[in-house]
Amino acid sequence: MDQPSPAADNPLLQPWNAPFGAPPFDRVRPEHFLPAFEAALAERRAEIAAIVGNPQQPTFANTIAALERAGGLLRRVSGAFFHLAGAQTSDAIERIERDVAPILARERSAILLDDALFARVEALFHARERLGLDAEAARTLERWRVAFKRAGAGLAPDRKARLAAIGERLATLGALFGQNVLADEKAFALILDGPDDLAGLPESFVSAAAEAAAARGRPGKHAVTLSRSSYEPFMQFSARRDLREKAFRAFVARGAGGGAHDNGAIMRETVALRAERARLLGYASFAAFRLADAMAKTPQAALDLMQRVWAPARAQALREAEALQATIAAEGCNFQLAAWDWRYYAEKRRKALYDVDQSEVAPYLPLEGMIAAAFDVAHRLFGVSFVARDDMRLPNADARAWTALGPDGAPIALFVGDYFARDSKHSGAWMSALRDQQKLDGRVLPIVVNVMSFARGGAGEPCLLSLDEAHTLFHEFGHALHGMMSDVTYPLLSGTNVARDFVELPSQLFEHWLERPETLRRFARHHRTGEPMPEALIERLAAARRFNQGFATTEFVAAALFDMELHLVADPGALDVAEFERRTLAEIGMPSAVATRHSAPHFQHVFSGDGYSAGYYSYLWSEALDADAFEAFEQAGDDFDPALAERLKRFVYAAGNTREPDEAYRRFRGADPSPDALLRKRGLAEN
Ligand SMILES: [Zn+2]
Repeated sequence: MDQPSPAADNPLLQPWNAPFGAPPFDRVRPEHFLPAFEAALAERRAEIAAIVGNPQQPTFANTIAALERAGGLLRRVSGAFFHLAGAQTSDAIERIERDVAPILARERSAILLDDALFARVEALFHARERLGLDAEAARTLERWRVAFKRAGAGLAPDRKARLAAIGERLATLGALFGQNVLADEKAFALILDGPDDLAGLPESFVSAAAEAAAARGRPGKHAVTLSRSSYEPFMQFSARRDLREKAFRAFVARGAGGGAHDNGAIMRETVALRAERARLLGYASFAAFRLADAMAKTPQAALDLMQRVWAPARAQALREAEALQATIAAEGCNFQLAAWDWRYYAEKRRKALYDVDQSEVAPYLPLEGMIAAAFDVAHRLFGVSFVARDDMRLPNADARAWTALGPDGAPIALFVGDYFARDSKHSGAWMSALRDQQKLDGRVLPIVVNVMSFARGGAGEPCLLSLDEAHTLFHEFGHALHGMMSDVTYPLLSGTNVARDFVELPSQLFEHWLERPETLRRFARHHRTGEPMPEALIERLAAARRFNQGFATTEFVAAALFDMELHLVADPGALDVAEFERRTLAEIGMPSAVATRHSAPHFQHVFSGDGYSAGYYSYLWSEALDADAFEAFEQAGDDFDPALAERLKRFVYAAGNTREPDEAYRRFRGADPSPDALLRKRGLAEN
């Protein structure tokens, strides 16, 4: 009566023999994950126990390198699972996510709160000068110590127990928050019925909306969904003010509907627990705690940058609002410009001023051309090239794989692109890694994924991108390169595992190459005729680049300021987060016709896990870096200056977390960044 071991029929617990050690997605079913997580956690507990129980004096090898090796199976299972939870979810996956999130948080804090383990790390840290470590090993030791200290190592037992409980509860709240937003997005579709409802909408939008309606069981109609790739173009082009208002109200009500998916209570509890965690760790606020380990170092440094940008951006947005109001009047209307009018009238003005019509641009930006353009820029800067392969078993038929090759032609990574929106995918765009680069025990090549939510083309039509979507593709591909080009020894320092306000540098910097005339001339080709984008259109796009930057900057900075102010509250108690948001926006003089980019109840950067809490400013911080960094190429007079590209690779894209970010930046640029480049880039410098 032998019972087969549960591992025997669980593909997650068999050797992963696919190329690059990719997960066995073709054989995995949701019910395999819980037992795999259990086995992986048990394995890591045993590995940690062996380190703690080692009777020998702590050495780098028997403590830090051993910590780096521990949890290999858990990293693999987590990588596969969280890819599905983001890009190919289901009720079963969501249930497992809710169950597993607090367990992973609990087990992680058990390691970081283990007194005996921390004592070994502390002993090594205090003896670090005498250990003969190379720079990367020394950095790994230092980063482990920071991780222990920030988790509460060395505190009294009751405080540590409370921190562990808080971490677990926050993990659950973060998973619930994102699931509520997704539920509200899935529940809504604005059905367009008949030609009147389609007024103003370009052909490409109409065919994508027909697909969306068919997918929701309404063939023959058209649907606007709350995915950004459907919502934003609708707001830009729909001539129907009443329908724009409907879509806007549904978009801003995500997570705020008052029903089962309302995020009010989740936000309140999250903010209170974060503040309590910061107090237990000896920080004045959660923001102070978060920023202490960022490039900015203090909330004030981040606030200084945001405030420096806010005043000229707001003044510019108010001027833009006046101009839009004048456009409304010129059409013989007398209503007050509202938030659901901005994108529509801005699009009209853009067309009037620069003769740039987004629907004229999209036919030149087919997805395939933009993927080729991103690959080409990577090749010219860093010598990386891509070869498509069709032998990978990926979780969705839409996903595609390429082998990334280094300058010498040897593989450096597997790259997976999954580009189209679907209901099983969380909205937005992101990069993640199924496996991180490292070479602790021989070279391990990374598997890097880009997930997008582009609307599919209509039947028989290619997917055409807006200029913003092409930027998103370049942005996430910049993150992907940061993961793929990583060349470090220790997993802790690998790829994108860097300070949050530094991690957007490789992604945002990469976007600069999209709109260079050289890139557009070669890759922006009409999807039907193959003709390159006309020179006059390229010139008009360049002239229009600073258009509407008052709006774009205020909608972003308002959300970032709210995030920082919220997490500066030392003792939030039962703070009403939505009310706090309204007050913050009123205090900074938010222009009435500009909506904040993410309102609190669906601000996933801040509430779906800890990701960007007290960290949304990071995009602006990184933009100060990327604007300053790209000026280096402009000053060199060559967008692909080989010496600069080489330093960029060495100190940024391939360097992982081997240096403090400010030092890494100086090594690349030869100087500290100046925020003036950011104001120049956005056309706000002269205000
Ligand atoms: Zn990013």
